[in-house]
Amino acid sequence: MPPEQLTVRFWGVRGTLPTPGADTVHYGGNTSCVEIDLGQRQVIFDAGSGIKKLGDWLGRQGGSLNTDILFSHCHMDHVCGVPFFAPFYEPQHRITLWAGNLLPATRLEETIRSIMSPPLFPIEIDAFKAEVQFRDFHAGKMLDLGGGITVHTGMLNHPGGSVGYRLEHGGKAVAYITDTEHRQGELDSNVLALIHNADLMIYDCTYTDEEYPNHAGWGHSTWQQAVRLAKSGRVKKLAVFHHDPDHDDAFMQKVEAEAGNAFPGAFVAREGLTLQL
Ligand SMILES: [Zn+2]
Ligand SMILES: [Zn+2]
Repeated sequence: MPPEQLTVRFWGVRGTLPTPGADTVHYGGNTSCVEIDLGQRQVIFDAGSGIKKLGDWLGRQGGSLNTDILFSHCHMDHVCGVPFFAPFYEPQHRITLWAGNLLPATRLEETIRSIMSPPLFPIEIDAFKAEVQFRDFHAGKMLDLGGGITVHTGMLNHPGGSVGYRLEHGGKAVAYITDTEHRQGELDSNVLALIHNADLMIYDCTYTDEEYPNHAGWGHSTWQQAVRLAKSGRVKKLAVFHHDPDHDDAFMQKVEAEAGNAFPGAFVAREGLTLQL
């Protein structure tokens, strides 16, 4: 792969709760997990249930991984796949986990330790064999992941906080913005700073504008807001992401058509979708 190429794979696109079944088989039922494949490295956004298949797939490629997992935040739908990411249990891998919304109240290692401990889970993080590092930072800081990968970060509007990311590499930019609630009639300046001219913007589209008033304060946004942001930020492609568990394939197909009419670069993220940027 030429160094300027960047591959995005969607392993989990659902929000809130894994939603398997006949009604979600097209767009997928696993929760948030997006892989950015940079050739020798991969950066993973969130470890929802979708990360299990990613870990199994990486295992089949062989070799040793040098991987960063950037958490938007630690709500269950974004961390529930952590214990099931097979590379944690193999000694040849280096995996760094990052969170930017927990300090000063708590830290990422403590948080992951707490979900992998009795009475919630049978295996503790001491069972990890890979070289695992936990890094806490304050949202707003720029992260240098090495190898020419830089990541800008910004705080989003979500209960307990959530971190938006803009990954840049080889002249390409991908923005990962979930979970976040917009203020009506406003474009969030933190979001605008992360998305401007991005090749791909992945955004929390849990609701439609019609549904939103019944869910104000729940910490999520709409696909129409995503379109307003994408136009203002002049992004090239917009991935409608973090689908509501109650939105089945038929509903999402309608969203895909409407969003595509409103913004030509818009599409609905689907589990298994690969994009070459
Ligand atoms: Zn979520
Ligand atoms: Zn959340």
